[in-house]
Amino acid sequence: MRCVNWLPVTCPTCFETFEIPAPDRQEAGSQIDYDCEVCCRPMVLTIVEEAPGELSAHAASLDDLS
Ligand SMILES: [Zn+2]
Repeated sequence: MRCVNWLPVTCPTCFETFEIPAPDRQEAGSQIDYDCEVCCRPMVLTIVEEAPGELSAHAASLDDLS
């Protein structure tokens, strides 16, 4: 078992993939403002609990949000 979970994120602007440290499980359902580590464009990550204890991050470009 790894000590730190990393969540893969695909940037909605440049489509590069990077990883963020997984937040606490209680963070599921919350949204996090994040800047892409590749192109530095802002995005909003939505933390989703896909299965018990299994988080994933869905990224949306700020341009897509109105
Ligand atoms: Zn990017």
